[in-house]
Amino acid sequence: MKTQGSSSSVAIVTGGARGIGLGCAKSLVSKDFNIVLVDVLDNELNQATSALCATGMHAESFVADVSDFQKAQNVVERILERYESIDVLVNNAGTPMPKGLLDISEGEWDRTIDVHLKGCFNWSRAVVPSMLKSGTGRIVNISSISAYSGGVTRAVSKFAYAAAKAGILGMTRSLAKELGPSVTVNAVCPGAIKTELTGEMLERRSAEFTEGISLRRLGTPEDIGEVVAFLATVEPNFITGQAITVDGFQWIT
Ligand code: NAP
Repeated sequence: MKTQGSSSSVAIVTGGARGIGLGCAKSLVSKDFNIVLVDVLDNELNQATSALCATGMHAESFVADVSDFQKAQNVVERILERYESIDVLVNNAGTPMPKGLLDISEGEWDRTIDVHLKGCFNWSRAVVPSMLKSGTGRIVNISSISAYSGGVTRAVSKFAYAAAKAGILGMTRSLAKELGPSVTVNAVCPGAIKTELTGEMLERRSAEFTEGISLRRLGTPEDIGEVVAFLATVEPNFITGQAITVDGFQWIT
């Protein structure tokens, strides 16, 4: 059994072209994983892939929408032409949906669930057969503290986003039971992390947020990447079905 990445280990990171996904990819590369990035942003993917290749590990990317079931199957098939098995899957791709119940359209609700929740299903479904065949695998799902807080702030309601993120926690616990002992499934719940997704809002409310976080700073993609990489390595091997909050103890939303 590999104790962490080896020259033949591979990790897939969805939504990996930038932000938290790229932070996860960087941490995994530093633990000797080869990386496959999946995202909808072509140019950003190319830049991220080049930066990761510069470390000496192999990195490649695929343009894919995580809500597309068949695309996930096709991409995983391609990856398995190069690698014996897939060691790690980080289900990270996500998109904001700042609309309340009376403003959101049916299509926007469906899209939120499709990207966040069905995306986790699509990629887990595509990758798990190879993990079970090799007898080991690690899945890390990126949820959010919104799964607990409800995602409704003074500024905005993100109820659909929060519902999808809470669904991810249910899927994490269920799959941890279904796929043990070979495959561990855990979730990470970030608080306020400075990325393109939160950019302008966090910029505007930076002082207010910092006051409402015990560690008095906003999070970075690297803060999340370190925890994901910890859960993604074979050691520790007695943690599954868990959700780890990484938010500097944030009580402001
Ligand atoms: P980000 O900077 O916007 O990065 C997310 C990446 O995923 C973007 O490149 C985005 O492309 C891509 N993406 C979106 N929908 C996709 C799809 N259907 N298929 C493939 N790729 C897709 O966001 P982030 O802040 O790093 O967020 C990453 C994850 O962490 C998300 O799941 C988010 O909900 C979660 N999270 C973030 C925070 C935070 O404070 N930043 C807190 C809690 C949880 P487009 O921009 O073109 O859509």
